[in-house]
Amino acid sequence: GLEEAPAIAKQRVTTRGTNVPVHINTFLELKDRYQIPTHIISNLSQHGYTQPTGIQSYGIPILLESRDLAAISPTGTGKTLSYLVPVLASLGTPASSAKSDTGSGVRAIVIAPTRELAHQIYNECLKLAQGRKWRVVLFSKATASTLADKSVRDKVDIIISTPLRLVTSLQSGKLELGNVRHLILDEADRMLDVEFLPQMEEIFASCTHPQIQKAVFSATLPAGAEKIAMGILHDPIRVVVGLKDT
Ligand code: ADP
Ligand code: MG
Repeated sequence: GLEEAPAIAKQRVTTRGTNVPVHINTFLELKDRYQIPTHIISNLSQHGYTQPTGIQSYGIPILLESRDLAAISPTGTGKTLSYLVPVLASLGTPASSAKSDTGSGVRAIVIAPTRELAHQIYNECLKLAQGRKWRVVLFSKATASTLADKSVRDKVDIIISTPLRLVTSLQSGKLELGNVRHLILDEADRMLDVEFLPQMEEIFASCTHPQIQKAVFSATLPAGAEKIAMGILHDPIRVVVGLKDT
């Protein structure tokens, strides 16, 4: 429910990194500062997202300024929208209606450790995508096989997937990630742990676009996962949100 996300007043945010962008206090500021599409802002308010949470107010500007990000914020603090808003805004125009310059192939990938989590992210993304012809794909056996057709694949904007499903398609040559500009790891503590690391390495190696933006989101980032994250991120900003106790 909406009441789950704590108000920013109850959150303590610390940042580390070079040239950290100024945080936002309202979603509306995104329009003046970054010219993000109006439909995204109105979709936010239509779904009752009136005030950004701590990770949203810091994370969204960082990602909109094309920076890499390691975001650590407790469960229930709205990490999902922290990356979906800037990714959708950065893509600008749905691939299906773009006339040029988007290149070919999927431009954004969100990876989560379980199918259930991927599904939740997908639902959140559909809310934001309302009113535009965004093609958001929840990757499954069925959708993966439709995407084997390049003309279908080239019109996809965002894929949301578990690591195994992606790797299966990569290995069978039915998916290319060379045009991916935004790679997001949700629940990164699990994604960068031994269970998924071999698959993640294969995915990183397939994301060859020189301008790729990478971000990891997690409630906690143990030392091992943090070290791996710092190895894949380029000049990252690290944001840590803690809940104030009282
Ligand atoms: P996390 O990934 O950090 O655990 P979620 O992204 O799943 O958190 O969000 C937790 C809940 O808070 C969801 O029900 C979501 O719809 C809601 N939520 C997210 N951002 C806001 C916001 N800015 N205002 C109100 N509710 C929000
Ligand atoms: Mg989450």
